[in-house]
Amino acid sequence: PDLHSLDTALTACRACPRLVAWRQEAAHVKRPAFRDWEYWARPVPGYGPADARMLLVGLAPAAHGGNRTGRMFTGDRSGDALVAALHDVGLASQPTSTHRDDGLELHGVRFTSPVHCAPPAHKPTPAERETCRPWLVRELELLRPTVRTVVALGAFGWQAVLPVLAAGGRQVPRPRPAFAHGARVELPPAGPDGAPLALYGCYHVTPRNTFTGRLSPAMLRDLLRTAAREAGL
Ligand code: SF4
Repeated sequence: PDLHSLDTALTACRACPRLVAWRQEAAHVKRPAFRDWEYWARPVPGYGPADARMLLVGLAPAAHGGNRTGRMFTGDRSGDALVAALHDVGLASQPTSTHRDDGLELHGVRFTSPVHCAPPAHKPTPAERETCRPWLVRELELLRPTVRTVVALGAFGWQAVLPVLAAGGRQVPRPRPAFAHGARVELPPAGPDGAPLALYGCYHVTPRNTFTGRLSPAMLRDLLRTAAREAGL
């Protein structure tokens, strides 16, 4: 299948009972500010071109963010911070991301996450991460011809993506490299025709980091620019 068919198939997944219940519960309760919204309330697929050279791996959609709008990093503060930075460095067509029909285009970049449904307290269980892993394995396989850098946003994304890269035939160093902001791990080609891939660590764009200054806009821009340059963007 191509990436579009994969995304379409993903939106029908019901493999995690707790998350199926939560994504629907959030849509039922809603936040007062969003009471006129019809929530997406399904798995949120990755977003960006099928020939992306850089993949950004977050954690999971937010109950009233991606789970409401149906697009990753759309309609919440994490998305605001990330898309503003991508726009600043020339990788997004506009600085805001509010609705899946708002016209946002990503240039050479795709968003995805290791867990595609909103979890309670924004914390998926290890079992849910395992259950969702095959979706990311397939997505990376389809992106393999073009993707050159993967940016893991936060330790969860970092830990989730290493086994996915190993499943795709990449030699992941042992012991597994630790997450840090600015960490970079180069993974050799998976086969004779393959290209090397670099994994970068970046603090997550959650308000817990962006509002406290742990991740400043300049730090985020610098890291995105470095990873994009390495990807040939
Ligand atoms: Fe399916 Fe992933 Fe959602 Fe679980 S988290 S129901 S595996 S899409």
